[in-house]
Amino acid sequence: MSTVTQPSVPENLKSFLSAPKKLLIGGQWVDAKSGKTFDVYDPATDQVVAQAAEGDAADVELAVAAARKAFDSGAWSKMTASQRSRIIWKIGDLIEDNADELAAMETIDNGKPIGVAKAADVALAADMFRYMAGWATKIEGNTIPLNVPYVPGGQFHAYTLKEPVGVVGQIIPWNFPLLMAAWKLGPALATGCTIVLKPAEQTPLSAIRLGELCHEAGLPDGVVNIITGFGETAGAAIAAHDDVDKVAFTGSTEVGKIIIKAAAGNLKKVTLELGGKSPNVIYDDADIETAIAGAADAIFFNQGQVCSAGSRLFVQSGIYDEVVAGVSEIASNMKVGSGFDASTQMGPLVSREQFDRVSGYLKAGLDAGAEASAGGAAIDQPGYFVQPTVLKNASPEMSVVQEEIFGPVVAAMPFTSDTEIACQANDTTYGLAAGIWTRDISKAHKLARQVKAGTVWVNCYSIFDAALPFGGYKQSGWGREMGHAALENYLQTKSVCVSL
Ligand code: ADP
Ligand code: MG
Repeated sequence: MSTVTQPSVPENLKSFLSAPKKLLIGGQWVDAKSGKTFDVYDPATDQVVAQAAEGDAADVELAVAAARKAFDSGAWSKMTASQRSRIIWKIGDLIEDNADELAAMETIDNGKPIGVAKAADVALAADMFRYMAGWATKIEGNTIPLNVPYVPGGQFHAYTLKEPVGVVGQIIPWNFPLLMAAWKLGPALATGCTIVLKPAEQTPLSAIRLGELCHEAGLPDGVVNIITGFGETAGAAIAAHDDVDKVAFTGSTEVGKIIIKAAAGNLKKVTLELGGKSPNVIYDDADIETAIAGAADAIFFNQGQVCSAGSRLFVQSGIYDEVVAGVSEIASNMKVGSGFDASTQMGPLVSREQFDRVSGYLKAGLDAGAEASAGGAAIDQPGYFVQPTVLKNASPEMSVVQEEIFGPVVAAMPFTSDTEIACQANDTTYGLAAGIWTRDISKAHKLARQVKAGTVWVNCYSIFDAALPFGGYKQSGWGREMGHAALENYLQTKSVCVSL
């Protein structure tokens, strides 16, 4: 059975936590104009550990003006690409140099196990900046031969220029605070944009530290501005601002739809990385041991607070009982506790709100007739801990099967035939990711094509890389992050046509 251990905060983090947290605007660290601050909680203890400046529309106004000034000055966009590349690379180096501190920040802010924060969040964030540093020098247009039927004998020299879109607003979630900042900042910086970044109110700490590291790396003032604060105030002001040329958002589908409406005022460009309810399909010819471990990891990684989590587990009927028993055994034996305890496998959920939300889904699922073969309840202990949960006897109409829970709860369902599974897998409004486990490569590739999802993992799950595009079909979003696809989000194409 799950056990809970008490956390202990590393000494070196304490001074950062007690120092005043400010907004980064035009290269200066300043208080919110209102003078307000908000509480930052340790999710393992439900205790306030820091205060952050509560930026709102007035501060967003100043940050957008600073980003505009920096963009128009050309200090960043007109710097040689090689110099820009070196600064972005340096940000990656500084993240790595400060890996222990950043990992501890993620653990106290988000709750995740510190080993995971260091090996995944921090390492991937450093890698993202380095990957995008490489692209800064490789952004090129084309020369294009023209025909122009109505100008007989005309000769033209036509080409495209790739130009930065301008001032971008970036609004990010709390599940991978530093990494989401890196996914957003990396391509925007590589293309020469300037930025107003808003971390989630639940997890402002690592973005503040990243702002310091950006300046240490030599980023000119006003290129990255950081506004900590709430979504309905600071976030809404960024999405609606007429002098913001593009908004990039990662978060709930519900807020994604609000962002689109807010962006309509000046028709700013929009990219969205939203929710998911991803199918994870295990065929009876899979390596079952590996698939069981993979299915558990697909849902329990990061306490299940992953937009691409494998939350709908489809198992071919002949091996259904065996797989459900295997995943349930892993869930029941998981060590749940403080992310600072080295033996912890799963930490608390991020917030009281998230704890209530996940607890509500557990109750709704059990009331509707699903049966918990592992977990099924919150853990009665300070902090936002819930048990890793496997639900069986779940049917397609239940909220635990249709809606994104964003917690460590998987619904396991049997399937019989190849033809049936593609329909079942796609029976959701989302389309972010999918998993397929089989030894039959033909079957794997066929289902990979049928599944409506932006990422398909075969015989693995949650493999992320700075080079691999990530994003959603259907209501999981617009556009792709990472890979060179991400650069397009931050570029305009200008066609230049010269008569010779
Ligand atoms: P959750 O409900 O799980 O916290 P959200 O989608 O609400 O997820 O939050 C993701 C990010 O969006 C956070 O940075 C949050 O502050 C921001 N946000 C929330 N509401 C709005 C809004 N109305 N406009 C702009 N940003 C918002
Ligand atoms: Mg919300």
